Amino acid sequence: MPIRVLDAQMVGRIAAGEVVERPASVAKELIENALDAGATSITVEIKEGGVAYLRVTDNGSGIPAEEARLAFENHATSKLQSGGDLSDIRTLGFRGEALPSIAAVSMVELTTRPPGQESGVRLNLKGGRVESVKEVGCPSGTSLVMRELFFNTPARRAFLKRPAAEAGAVSDMVMRMILGNPGVSVRFINNGKTVYHSYGDGNDRHTALSVYGRSVAEQLVALDASEGGLRMNGLIGVGDCARPNRSQQSFFVNGRVVRCALLTQALEQVCKGRVTIGQYPMCILHVTLPPHSVDVNVHPNKLEVRFRDEAGIQLSVQALLSRAFAGERVLDLQAASVTPPPVVLANRTSVLVPPAPEEIPADPPPERRSVPVAAPVTPLAEQPEQLTYVTVRSPAASGRMALREAGGPAIWTGMPRRQSEPAAAPEVRLPETRPPELERPAVPSNSEQAVPAADPPAVDVPQPEPLPPYRVVGVAFHTYILIETGDALLMIDQHAAHERLLYERYVRQLSEGNASQQLLMPLVVPMSARERAILLENQQLLMDAGYEVEAFGERDVQVRAVPHVLGRAELRPLFAELIDRLDLLKSATLERRRAEVIQTSCKRAVKGGDPLSELEIEALIREMLETGAPPSCPHGRPVMKVMNRAELERQFKRLQ
Ligand code: ADP
Ligand code: MG
Repeated sequence: MPIRVLDAQMVGRIAAGEVVERPASVAKELIENALDAGATSITVEIKEGGVAYLRVTDNGSGIPAEEARLAFENHATSKLQSGGDLSDIRTLGFRGEALPSIAAVSMVELTTRPPGQESGVRLNLKGGRVESVKEVGCPSGTSLVMRELFFNTPARRAFLKRPAAEAGAVSDMVMRMILGNPGVSVRFINNGKTVYHSYGDGNDRHTALSVYGRSVAEQLVALDASEGGLRMNGLIGVGDCARPNRSQQSFFVNGRVVRCALLTQALEQVCKGRVTIGQYPMCILHVTLPPHSVDVNVHPNKLEVRFRDEAGIQLSVQALLSRAFAGERVLDLQAASVTPPPVVLANRTSVLVPPAPEEIPADPPPERRSVPVAAPVTPLAEQPEQLTYVTVRSPAASGRMALREAGGPAIWTGMPRRQSEPAAAPEVRLPETRPPELERPAVPSNSEQAVPAADPPAVDVPQPEPLPPYRVVGVAFHTYILIETGDALLMIDQHAAHERLLYERYVRQLSEGNASQQLLMPLVVPMSARERAILLENQQLLMDAGYEVEAFGERDVQVRAVPHVLGRAELRPLFAELIDRLDLLKSATLERRRAEVIQTSCKRAVKGGDPLSELEIEALIREMLETGAPPSCPHGRPVMKVMNRAELERQFKRLQ
């Protein structure tokens, strides 16, 4: 065949392949156009996977009648002027390819009217050719209906998946657009049913609620941190919110939904220890930085971005992300009482009317810890000799010293017997007579504090945050510590909590370089040649985790030092387990294997320890309050569950 220049339509069809892959990519481009047009309300509707029918309607700026035709010309855009700066792009679109590409491979009807104009215009196109242009009356904004995607490129149509799968991909795309644009109310309708309808009130947590439902939205951890022109804000889900894959990690760079390995890695690094092994944190994270420090023009689908200073960004991103968990507390009362908007809509069919502003509760204040506990702790019975439990409080002024205010250790001593009417203020009351074994202080460091000085010592140490008043109600099933505090009933898995605390201590000691203790007598562990090989292959790794092991004789291994945190745990079963784990993970990264060694050690340390005594439980609670260990064990199991008084009262029909 002779060489010929392809006609415009053929060029269009070929170019369309880059932008228009499937209905989801059409939806993405059209929603981006609506967002660029300043819309505050967008409706996306599809039928049969979006292949037969896909509509995006917005209330944005519209297109002037005389420009409507031009919008379908290749590389026609209102967003980039000649000589404009490609490195300073502030709109989602800029390539001027979406409309022509979509029109080239489908039948399109565009109806549009700028708010200032009396009438609008309707354009019909088929395979990229304009079939009709009419003046029409229509609402202001733009509505684009696309029908029969790839009707003229059957080979590409054949590549589409079943309608349900295509609908799923559109739904996923719309979901990300919703999460990325909390200030825009987006409604998504699939085969006549409303799947999502976001509030558009600008609140990230409400937006998460409209996508994930109430329980997830309540548990997400908020982040808003900036540093040197870089801001990261949004929500992170760990613990119960972790997922088996990365599909619920949504990242937005300057408002643009992106896939970005750098961000994913930073997130996972920071969340390590807060999600179960094999699970992934979820997130809705917005990254904002000066437009010139990021390149969005990497691929026509604009899903990839490149940072100009990768290494610098990586460091900053990680530092900012870790602030989400800084100062996190196990007994975080405010987290227990976050109330999202009253209406939940996640994959429901009902139509959701965004609630009136006054119905939407404000976001929790950023400094959650500083929120005072509303209700006083229920005071104790009047007869001191009958007391079987102790209330502890810690006023801000005297910090942790107050735990000893009444002149003796604050201790858990069993189940409550009786309660009287609430008093005006929480109080510390201790039994007059205590069983002798309880005279022993809970933790050695507190023993000198038994009698506080009249004036607090003039030490220039920042006072710890006041601890909320709490009361240990008891231990259920030898496992769950029940604590009443404010209006919440906390259930703490003591094993998980213990493990978490050991983990924190261990990691801290590792970073300070004092995690390891030499054994008085090196321990010789007999093992098979294979086991020995596994252990010795990981010798350096084990050393980094506070172990010192070396070959001994022909077959054995000698252990000279182990981590402090192990306490009196039995070493032989620990090594057996370490060998198993390291063998399973032989092709995993060094980082991953190191984490496994740390976690296995903590698990063994808890197992090897005696069952916790009442005093230890009390000490544990205090340590959790004071160190603010995060609320999941190193394996990601939750440490604590919360039940609110209101929830309980609803169950007993005291509250409707
Ligand atoms: P780009 O978005 O890259 O500019 P498109 O092909 O997506 O290219 O759109 C071409 C032009 O059509 C845009 O620059 C814009 O001026 C106009 N346009 C498209 N969609 C809309 C819309 N929903 N509202 C207002 N203008 C729109
Ligand atoms: Mg566009």
